[in-house]
Amino acid sequence: MIIDNHGRTIDYLRLAVTDRCNLRCFYCMPEDGIQFLKKDALLSYEELLRLMRLLAQEGISKIRITGGEPFLRKDLVSFLENLSAIEGINKIAITTNGTITLRHLDALVHMGIRSFNLSIDSIDKARFEKITRRDSFDEVWSCFEQMSAREDIELKLNCVVMADQNIEDIIPMVRLTQEKNISVRFIEEMPFNGDGKFNKETHWNYIKILQHIESTFGKAIKLDDGKNSTSLNYGLEGFAGSFGIIPAYTRSFCGSCNRLRLTPQGSIKTCLYDDGIFNIRDIMRAGATDNEIIAAVKEACSHRAKDGFEAEAKRKINPHVSESMATIGG
Ligand code: SAM
Ligand code: SF4
Repeated sequence: MIIDNHGRTIDYLRLAVTDRCNLRCFYCMPEDGIQFLKKDALLSYEELLRLMRLLAQEGISKIRITGGEPFLRKDLVSFLENLSAIEGINKIAITTNGTITLRHLDALVHMGIRSFNLSIDSIDKARFEKITRRDSFDEVWSCFEQMSAREDIELKLNCVVMADQNIEDIIPMVRLTQEKNISVRFIEEMPFNGDGKFNKETHWNYIKILQHIESTFGKAIKLDDGKNSTSLNYGLEGFAGSFGIIPAYTRSFCGSCNRLRLTPQGSIKTCLYDDGIFNIRDIMRAGATDNEIIAAVKEACSHRAKDGFEAEAKRKINPHVSESMATIGG
């Protein structure tokens, strides 16, 4: 078992398999993209599978696949097939932008992957294209329609709330949950945008988002959030689905954090806001034994920051949060 210095059991890994992306969401990446990693800088699938087996033996039971856009990594589906066969991994979830996801959907469901977070920041084509800087709305909307029509899929929508960009989408997106049994989650924008420019003055925090929703629909019904949830979840009378608000910038959920992050180039992060605790790829390629690898992970978790504010204050290499979320995984 991996238990941190604050008594929190770590059983969930967020695994970013690539930093590449076919969209350029302005809150995540600069228009020209970022300096993408070379192939040999990425942990190979063989290295990842070895690591996942070791982590599963230590109680990691849930893995979220993210990126960049995970489906841009070659042979991802075969990797997932092998990953899903590892004993102890009970749940694999995927966060995707939905541009090329549909072509893999049946294979994924067939191997037992049913939990998808689809990122869609606007249901208006023009606004979507302004935010993502790409003409992909039709593909993403079609992905949404097909996924939300399937009963064998648990679908959540991720919507980053941005002043002057998509405030007019909040209410229509809540309305999507009237007929559909999906959850729409509104995420506070964070400064992980690749250039570090971030306006705190106009920022929409979770309180403002909830007030905005309640000003249209009336008082929302607070739902049970579950043990390690990052979202505050709500329902509306007569609605089939629900909505959630993720205080990602306010960081009010850190007390129950059960997550570890692994970046595409092998950096282990014990908090979204730290700048990498150590590089596991380097020790693996230097010949670390299984025991040494697990010992290094446990050591990292033995001085884990209490919350995202402490992690941010302790950043060493890059004190100011400015890296792209595509290099971390979100
Ligand atoms: N490309 C995939 C996608 O967009 O779903 C997976 C990777 S993306 C980095 C994971 C999640 O992080 C997405 O839901 C995205 O909206 C969110 N995200 C990216 N940058 C963010 C930021 N600066 N603040 C808040 N959320 C962010
Ligand atoms: Fe790509 Fe996802 Fe970042 Fe948008 S949020 S640029 S889709 S990695």
